[in-house]
Amino acid sequence: MKVIVIGAGTGGLCLAQGLKRSGIEVAVYERDRTRSDGLQGYRVGIDPDGSRALHACLPKELYDTFVATCARAPRYGNIYTERLKEVLSVDSGPVSADPVDSEKSVSRMTMRQVLLTGLEDEVRFGKVFARYSHGADGRVTAHFEDGTTDTADLLVAADGSNSRVRRQYLPHAGLEDSGLVGVTGKLPLTGETRTLLPPKAIEGVSMIFAPGGYSCILHVMEFKWDQRGELKNGIGGDDAELLAAWPGLTFDNTRDYIMWGFAGARRNLPSEVLSMSGPQLHRMVRELTGRWHPNLRELVAKTDPTTCFPLNIRTSVPIPQWDTTNVTLLGDAIHTMTPGRGVGANTALRDAAILRRELVAVRDGEKPLLAAVRAYETRMIDYGFDAVVKSRRQMSGDDPLHRPVIGRIMLAGMRTAMRAVNHLPPLKRRMAKAQASYRGAGRDDF
Ligand SMILES: Cc1cc2nc3c(=O)[nH]c(=O)nc-3n(C[C@H](O)[C@H](O)[C@H](O)COP(=O)(O)OP(=O)(O)OC[C@H]3O[C@@H](n4cnc5c(N)ncnc54)[C@H](O)[C@@H]3O)c2cc1C
Repeated sequence: MKVIVIGAGTGGLCLAQGLKRSGIEVAVYERDRTRSDGLQGYRVGIDPDGSRALHACLPKELYDTFVATCARAPRYGNIYTERLKEVLSVDSGPVSADPVDSEKSVSRMTMRQVLLTGLEDEVRFGKVFARYSHGADGRVTAHFEDGTTDTADLLVAADGSNSRVRRQYLPHAGLEDSGLVGVTGKLPLTGETRTLLPPKAIEGVSMIFAPGGYSCILHVMEFKWDQRGELKNGIGGDDAELLAAWPGLTFDNTRDYIMWGFAGARRNLPSEVLSMSGPQLHRMVRELTGRWHPNLRELVAKTDPTTCFPLNIRTSVPIPQWDTTNVTLLGDAIHTMTPGRGVGANTALRDAAILRRELVAVRDGEKPLLAAVRAYETRMIDYGFDAVVKSRRQMSGDDPLHRPVIGRIMLAGMRTAMRAVNHLPPLKRRMAKAQASYRGAGRDDF
């Protein structure tokens, strides 16, 4: 059995690792020209679902390398006003020592380098997928823009939100705008910038809700090693040898940083926001946060404007299950979701692990190929579209919060309710537990 994967993103590479590890032939085609091209965003939160999927697909040493290259996982989930007053802070407790069933925080670039390790023969860069066709024998052929082709028993679309495979295979599966636009930027975490944030924000993920429906998420990424790849004093320990031997270290994002993601309703932002340059976006965010707490203004001011980029937040529209063939999809190619719940990459990883498990059953003669693909799609459609709907509910430009008068009243009501919860530790513990359960803690192994 041979599998073609279109797209060397999070889901496609995890699947390729899993198939290679299981002795199944796989070829990955990626439009980017090099292993460090085209990465949008800086940080990804990997939840227990995502961790278990990576654990199931990666060779043991590579999984250990992934864990060793993560930043410190967040302990607190905080909500602040734009004046940096705490509204709610939920402590999820000391970070779990379990290397698999736990939350992680990783740089996108680093995770990509980990996922590419050992796949040098399987991944072909600079290959833009154009279309697929079926031969008389039922096998599927991928056609690339450079005129080349490759043929396999199964074609997997892992080519992200604008999937060309999806457009050909399921043309009725559309995307729609959430009505929100995000702007991301980052700045180094130094002795000086550290003092701009409360200690719980340094050790957590923080959300600022401001009037006008504007919001800003803050992530603090602290690694075990410094920019020369040397482990920092007192942390890292046993990982030193593992990291020193890992070739991917040269490609990644090794300095500690603070990342912010500002968001607002598109109709409240300049019409040209999506085509603005980094410096223009930086100026826009500085203006829109002009009345925020001086420390937050300083944080934005100290951001290198060239690190800023815009993001049109889109979402899939769920569709009913389709007839199964030897073309299938995973990740954003079928279930693009808003970053509302932070589970897009985790869902792509979960898809990869389930599809790999089904294909191993085909390899072992336990199931025909189409039955395996059907079983994968049935499960994926269920949890994937559920995540799409829930993520959409959490982030929509239609929310009254973005309106001038009613928005202010809603914001005040939300803050009052959250402040009340902040004084009720049992309720906060229940919130932490519900969050952990949504993010896959304790679910079945793959
Ligand atoms: C700012 C931001 C923050 C996020 N934070 C989180 C988070 O904390 N946790 C989380 O779980 N998710 C998060 N997500 C979502 C997550 O990044 C995506 O859901 C995830 O990357 C999807 O993985 P994928 O493999 O499906 O697609 P991608 O990772 O997008 O990979 C698709 C690949 O296909 C390639 N490709 C596209 N078209 C072609 C073609 N025609 N031919 C060949 N190759 C092609 C692309 O170059 C790319 O490499 C975030 C997203 C954003 C934008």
